[in-house]
Amino acid sequence: MFRPCALGAPSMKNYRVLRTLGAGACAKVKLALHLVTGTEVAIKFICKARQARLEFLAREVACMKALQHPNIIQLFEVLDTPEELLLVMEYAGGGNLLDYLLRRGRLEELEARHKFQQILAAVAHCHARGIVHRDLKPENILMDREHNLKLSDFGLSIECAGAALSTFCGSPEYAAPEIFLHRPYAGPAVDVWSLGVVLYRMVTGALPFRGSDLVELRDRVVSGHFHLPPYLSAQCRDLLGRMMVQDPQGRSSLEAIQQHPWVRPTQGLLAVHEPSPSHHDAALAEAMVSMGDQRQQSQTAVVERRFDEVMGSDLILGPGGGGRGAPRRRRRGRVSPPPRSPAHAP
Ligand code: ADP
Ligand code: MG
Repeated sequence: MFRPCALGAPSMKNYRVLRTLGAGACAKVKLALHLVTGTEVAIKFICKARQARLEFLAREVACMKALQHPNIIQLFEVLDTPEELLLVMEYAGGGNLLDYLLRRGRLEELEARHKFQQILAAVAHCHARGIVHRDLKPENILMDREHNLKLSDFGLSIECAGAALSTFCGSPEYAAPEIFLHRPYAGPAVDVWSLGVVLYRMVTGALPFRGSDLVELRDRVVSGHFHLPPYLSAQCRDLLGRMMVQDPQGRSSLEAIQQHPWVRPTQGLLAVHEPSPSHHDAALAEAMVSMGDQRQQSQTAVVERRFDEVMGSDLILGPGGGGRGAPRRRRRGRVSPPPRSPAHAP
């Protein structure tokens, strides 16, 4: 059942909400149609009243704005209203990695490697820009319909530029020992630990550290001991043993992991090309022009990185939006906006 958008936000006029994709403590994510291009997008509705620490919200937006990579969910537009913050994003139509792993069980190392390379490429892009994710787990790794991985949920991310961090955050099963020990920690190293847990889960179908309660889990994580099943290849075991190292100083760096023989058995496997922000799908660009969009206006919005309606449409048309993933596009050209005020499902 659809109900009118609580805010009657005029800025939602370009979107029609279709259904709920997921929900968390402070946010609901819904599938919507960008009416101008007929492209499916995901909109994260974040309730400001439920978000105790508004600085996390600001950081989520700032981090997403700073990132543009084929393996990271692209932010298209930010709609700010008094009650909610709406993040209009690239839609990942293949679901999240957790659901995939629950369906498939443990993955063959070949498939796990391919997925892990994409996750590494995304996290390396974040780290290169001084951004640490701090909540790496399969629920936050999405897939498009072609099974390309897309890192998402930057709700706990922070731009740290090498500074030590102290906030206890993340999901306990994926959290590094130094987080449990409430020690100041280096952001990249906690992401490496979590990546180790994600890889372990992909190749074994299980979690390396479990406990009947948080105290038991904490003790196991802090001990740094985990079981390596004998069916894993020697190289995979070696890599896991370098990532989930109790002492963050002794943990492999992301760069070293990218060069590890399990990750990179032959040259060129990690060749991920940075998208060109200026590239447009010609047919979709034509649709934009026909609706009266001024190219100059669009370029200004993109150059100034406003993430407004104009830049949103521009990004949706680009390689990270409908311009790349044909299945996400429902119809070409303009889709008529609904006759009444915009609506979204409860
Ligand atoms: P939270 O901050 O509450 O954890 P997330 O951003 O992780 O919210 O989104 C919750 C769920 O919604 C995800 O696990 C995923 O299933 C779905 N989801 C989020 N973003 C998208 C997207 N861009 N495309 C498709 N599904 C999404
Ligand atoms: Mg999440």
